Amino acid sequence: MDKDEVRRLIAEHGIETVKIGTPDMDGVYRGKRVSVKQFLAGFDGSGFAQCDVIFGWDIAEEVMTGLDLAMGSADTGFADILLRPDLETFRVVPWEPAVAAVVCDVYTEHGGVVEQSPRAVLRRVVERARTMGFEPAMAVEYEFRIFREDQESLREKRYSDLRPLNPGFNCYSISHATIDDDVVGALRRNMDAYGIEVEGYNREHGEGMYEMNLRYAPALEAADRGMLFKSGSKEILAQAGVVPTFMAKYSDEMDGCSGHIHQSLWRGDESAFYDEGGAHGMSSAMRSYLSGALRAMPELFALYAPNINSYKRYVSGSWAPTSATWGVDNRTSSLRVIAGGPSAIRIETRVPGADVNAYLGFAACLAGGLWGIEQGLEPPSPVQSDAYAATDQPELPRTLEQAIALFEVSAVARDWFGDAFVDHYVKMRRWEIEKHRRAVTAWERARYFEQV
Ligand code: ADP
Repeated sequence: MDKDEVRRLIAEHGIETVKIGTPDMDGVYRGKRVSVKQFLAGFDGSGFAQCDVIFGWDIAEEVMTGLDLAMGSADTGFADILLRPDLETFRVVPWEPAVAAVVCDVYTEHGGVVEQSPRAVLRRVVERARTMGFEPAMAVEYEFRIFREDQESLREKRYSDLRPLNPGFNCYSISHATIDDDVVGALRRNMDAYGIEVEGYNREHGEGMYEMNLRYAPALEAADRGMLFKSGSKEILAQAGVVPTFMAKYSDEMDGCSGHIHQSLWRGDESAFYDEGGAHGMSSAMRSYLSGALRAMPELFALYAPNINSYKRYVSGSWAPTSATWGVDNRTSSLRVIAGGPSAIRIETRVPGADVNAYLGFAACLAGGLWGIEQGLEPPSPVQSDAYAATDQPELPRTLEQAIALFEVSAVARDWFGDAFVDHYVKMRRWEIEKHRRAVTAWERARYFEQV
């Protein structure tokens, strides 16, 4: 989309406000709402100024101190960074009158790319894939829970004993999904009009739980859609008086919410993953990609499971994998090969939770897989039955602490994402671990209060 096309859309839809933003480290769409006059004036300039603190505070917006951050800290004086709209992402917001949205790349005031920015990380990985002759196609599927709450009631109830959109277990029940059409169907329809195709959705396994499958697209576009889906669904559902959560595990008694990632590599119109003569239709590039993604999974795990809460989802037998395994159409393995024929053949990475930052989750999938191709790796044997029972397979990290220790020294991470990002991410996650270390939980009170 060029500037003329954007101007045409603005005039045609009477746009008055444009949301300009970029993903922060957690994949939250952050930025500003600017007047259309301001947006058009900034079009040809160097970008829109934004305080760099969006990369220097934690998810609760507490500024991280004492970390010697090269971006987003008092040490750098909380300088400005520049948001430059990627016009390809410009879209009209269907659920707000006269509003459009755009996703931005992030630059320093001196014109260099902000290397820590998740969109820059994924862009670099995609560019390297292109130099190898591949165009990656990705999709994310989100599970999430919806509650009949609002911002105030959530706080009054301290995020506990919330009223779900619907009670009970009605997974795949058409009638139950139909009953919710005014809320969840409206979400799908709005997303469609927003340029985010939801191929299908279903009632999931648990109270208020749904899954939506986003249509695959070139990697950067698919990550943008993933972020815009999460942020937009919070807005659309608020209009219906309900609130979603993408926490990986909302309750210890209920299933977690996944954020599975589908991926394939293309050479022009042909899938580089397909070979008619290969086992399960897999090309040698796909075998090496699979092998690399599998081997690098433990060291890149901190990008698939970024939060303390992410690790609560990995429970044996719970649909969330606990070891690095692959299988052909095996939903207990962490990499599921879908031998769907010449264009549908793909790999599904089943480890991420819905809390994954899509940019970083995609970057992790691709870096591991492309590294496997560079190295010409060959995969081990597939797991043909229950992967939870396959105790001889490489274990995945069970805590953020373990994951971040592996990530910090990962040669793949440093080579593919760069030191600036890896060091920043490691510091941020260690800060998060430290915050959690001090938290006294409801579980601890219930368990120890009277007994010890
Ligand atoms: P589920 O895991 O819920 O059973 P499916 O196996 O039906 O879902 O996979 C659907 C997802 O795969 C969708 O997001 C779809 O867009 C994506 N997909 C289909 N073909 C490809 C492809 N060639 N490359 C990447 N993703 C693809």
